[in-house]
Amino acid sequence: MESIKAPRGVRDILPDESWKWAFIFGVTRKIAEDFGYREVHLPIFEQTELFSRGIGETTDVVEKEMYTFSDRSGRSLTLRPEATASMVRAYLEHGMASGPQPSKLWCAGPMMRYERPQKGRYRQFWQLDFEAIGSASPLVDVEVIALSLEIFRRLGLSNLEVLINSVGCPSCRPVYRSALQGYLRERFDELCPTCQGRFDRNPLRILDCKVETCRAITDGAPDVRDHLCGECRSHFDEVLQGLDLIGAKFRIDKRLVRGLDYYTKTAYEVLSGDLGAQNAVCGGGRYDNLAEAIGGPHTPGVGFAAGLDRIVLTMEQQGLSFGREPSISVIVVVADEAARDEAVRLLYELRRAGVPSDMDTSGKGVKAQMKAAGAAKACCVCILGSSEVSRGVVALKEMATGSQEEIERERVVERLAAKMKAACC
Ligand code: AMP
Repeated sequence: MESIKAPRGVRDILPDESWKWAFIFGVTRKIAEDFGYREVHLPIFEQTELFSRGIGETTDVVEKEMYTFSDRSGRSLTLRPEATASMVRAYLEHGMASGPQPSKLWCAGPMMRYERPQKGRYRQFWQLDFEAIGSASPLVDVEVIALSLEIFRRLGLSNLEVLINSVGCPSCRPVYRSALQGYLRERFDELCPTCQGRFDRNPLRILDCKVETCRAITDGAPDVRDHLCGECRSHFDEVLQGLDLIGAKFRIDKRLVRGLDYYTKTAYEVLSGDLGAQNAVCGGGRYDNLAEAIGGPHTPGVGFAAGLDRIVLTMEQQGLSFGREPSISVIVVVADEAARDEAVRLLYELRRAGVPSDMDTSGKGVKAQMKAAGAAKACCVCILGSSEVSRGVVALKEMATGSQEEIERERVVERLAAKMKAACC
């Protein structure tokens, strides 16, 4: 029988990579603190309606990409394809509107979408998700965008481009939608089949089609900015001014419409020049009508989601540092069986003192234990045999220099802990 593998498009993040993720979480957590965002752990499945009503029935995510199933009581549930709808649901469900506004929240976790897997696109992928719910101020759009850029800045990412646009609101978007349809109707037959299908249901998505002929047609399409209502126009202007004020570079892109229906006004994306086809590392914007769409009162909000898998790929591509890979500093080597108990005692004393340490448990000989210490990149080994035990000492060997000395058993833990603190280990 063939052994069972992970489902297609789903991957394990193994120890060689997971420490890099931990580094990014650490940087993100500090930035969240610096900007006053508090962490939430959201469920990974929700009632299907949350997404179908929140994200929009005609979006790719809801039409084609959700993992939806019935539970044993016949309820329709869906593995979350994104976190914004869940965050707004949590905000409403827990009455956060009565606290200081906006509620500034963040979460990190896996999202699930049934997409065609390729490099940088998975069926389970991780997002860092930041949401500011309960404010319509353009300053909050600026803060959210600035926060995402600060993550990339602190991680050292370069070769990024910030694209921004306004997708209007329910009062001006229909006007733009018909202007766009009017323009596209003339050349309907030249559009790709997918865009022809989008023409009635979601014509704005035609603007971000990657097919050459569609792009050539939409090059001349009306610009949403010429159709914004006064409020959306001034909101957009204030967001751009705010970004200028904090020195954020961006490019206005009239094709940027984002795939999810709930966006109003600001939409933005951060692209990496080092990722190939799946080049978006972050996307977000304002969603002033999402809360109403899922049955709550009108509640403006703005946020972003950054793709962790793609951030790691870009950082690797750019040869960036993930800090120090955690590793064992000290290996306790048992030179003969009579010293084993004392060696175990020493091992746990070291661990309690916060010195990353380990020991062979399979009865290997000294040579093999030393080899394993080298492979583990330990900085020191503590060798204990019956001679050391009887004399109350430990043989301490520095792996880098090969130098060895005897240290009093009483002082060895303190000495190694100090070495760790001084980052010599
Ligand atoms: P979205 O929720 O579609 O706006 O996506 C936000 C970010 O999540 C994107 O910019 C990507 O970095 C990441 N992302 C979205 N879908 C995937 C996927 N299938 N695989 C990996 N990352 C993804």
